[in-house]
Amino acid sequence: MIRVVAHGGVGGPASHADGCRAAVQAVLAALDAADLALDAAVAGAVILEDDPRFNAGTGSSYRLDGKTIEMDAAVMDGGGRIGAVAAIRRVKNPVLVARRVADSPHILLAGEPAVRFARAQGFPDHDPATREAREKYEEVVRQLTKGEVPPSRRRWLEIDLSKFWNFEVPYAKLAPTGTIGVAVHALGRTAVALSTGGASPMLAGRVGDTPLPGAGFWAGPAGSVAATGIGEEIARKLLSKWVYDRIEEGASPAGACREGVALYPDEIPIGLIAVTPAGWGAANNREMPWAAWTGDALVGP
Ligand code: ASP
Repeated sequence: MIRVVAHGGVGGPASHADGCRAAVQAVLAALDAADLALDAAVAGAVILEDDPRFNAGTGSSYRLDGKTIEMDAAVMDGGGRIGAVAAIRRVKNPVLVARRVADSPHILLAGEPAVRFARAQGFPDHDPATREAREKYEEVVRQLTKGEVPPSRRRWLEIDLSKFWNFEVPYAKLAPTGTIGVAVHALGRTAVALSTGGASPMLAGRVGDTPLPGAGFWAGPAGSVAATGIGEEIARKLLSKWVYDRIEEGASPAGACREGVALYPDEIPIGLIAVTPAGWGAANNREMPWAAWTGDALVGP
């Protein structure tokens, strides 16, 4: 039985679940054409990367300088095949580059060399910037300058940004002129594909949980898992592997996702999706657009 779950990032409006339904349908169509779960998961992630409402691929968030966009993406199948890119710039579909990394001798390529790898693989230059991402950036700058950041990001108010500034442009006091994060993942059978523009605010070179095996994602014979939320917090608990291990111990995918979310205090936004040969699950502590193919019906929030 085929089961698919796609989500558009915790914190995003549930009204965007139509994008996730389109991604699930793309996965089902791809599974018809080729029975490689990995490539089907990637086909779903591409739909979400190309939808500018989601913070992945086109529509990715700006970093703190308001100029830089860096993206993370990863793929993994139940056989242990992994490919990921971190802090990659100027490509349309980071998840497709991650898929190519899975064919290389490595599992993760980062930064400028990852961009050169993408070009060598035939991926052309692409500016993922959108007006919506600009508006979100302006909102983040407004929050930071007014001291109104959400509790999960309080530490940003306690630091002197000029001491950490690592952009090409010199540090200039932020003026209210704003980012927020939505990650994208699509699952097919025992495969997972995910992609993100990150979780703002972000310094240059910041890599979240998304391309880190066991943190943002895990897949194995028992199923596949993808996480969304504040990457640093997800990585600290190796959340996706934790949820996978619970499934392997006999928890249902829905139950394991709920237990995973419950590891966090309320102020940390966290979302999880999982599929197993026998079921699927999604859990989140904030609104989250998602859609699932249960084997005979397309369901959502
Ligand atoms: N987990 C992603 C990151 O921290 C963001 C998200 O899921 O919204 O980069």
